[in-house]
Amino acid sequence: MSRIAYVNGQYVAHAQAAVHIEDRGYQFADGVYEVCEVRGGHLVDERRHIERLVRSLGEIRIALPMPLAALKVVLRETIRRNRVRHGFVYLQVTRGVARRDHYFPDPATPPSLVVTARAVDPAKGEAVAREGIAVITTPDNRWERVDIKTVGLLPNVLAKQAAKEAGAREAWFVDGEGRVTEGGSTNAWIVTPEGRLVTRHADSGILRGITRTVMLDVAEQLQLTVEERPFTVAEALAAREAFVTSATNFATPVVRIDGQIIGDGRPGAVARVLRENFHSFAEVTP
Ligand code: PMP
Repeated sequence: MSRIAYVNGQYVAHAQAAVHIEDRGYQFADGVYEVCEVRGGHLVDERRHIERLVRSLGEIRIALPMPLAALKVVLRETIRRNRVRHGFVYLQVTRGVARRDHYFPDPATPPSLVVTARAVDPAKGEAVAREGIAVITTPDNRWERVDIKTVGLLPNVLAKQAAKEAGAREAWFVDGEGRVTEGGSTNAWIVTPEGRLVTRHADSGILRGITRTVMLDVAEQLQLTVEERPFTVAEALAAREAFVTSATNFATPVVRIDGQIIGDGRPGAVARVLRENFHSFAEVTP
């Protein structure tokens, strides 16, 4: 029997079931999910799973894709169409399809809903339970590996949305010691009152931005003094200049942090000269 999936309003063959490539689940892991047991053709703990789903959606401000009564019908219909007596039903809701941009899309963008169901042989689980299982231990670093350019960007999405709602363009993440790590989608830099260029070292805590690397070359060529070290928010507020770098921003001056004016409140000379020189140092492939 061929499996059926529910995808955004339609029941389709599982093998052909697809969401758009610009779905925010695919682009940013900007979504939530639930897995519910099906036993004897009935949902187990549906009320609790739905409550947690509603909470998860509320926490990241995604609208319900449909009224709960309708959602319950879709869950049952997916189970029915797949003739699942014992197994699981999976549901995922994302912030929908929109041109890739960290900020939340237009509020009219409908959330995406995918529901699948799968039968499992209960005897298999029982056999495993009879034997017991092994585990390993691993540091709980969910998710410290920001040095990897992963699509798991939900924290970045929420930070940039908060920035937008505060009238800002970017959010700077701050570590446990009050030191700036990086922006939601940029690397962070300051120029100290003495004229030293400071950006966090790229060993951990940040993505090693390509633009950051090239800007370090530009700075060296211009004989600027560079310190690759963490800087605090206090240091940034007292800086002569601040700016961000990324492939889409080159070097873009920062004139306000948390509402406080940086330097004289105008784009600084160092950010400008780095921006002007960037393309003489970046590699352009023929
Ligand atoms: N940090 C983060 C979290 C980013 O997403 C990006 C760019 N997308 C950067 C830094 C800057 O990297 P790059 O200069 O390679 O664009």
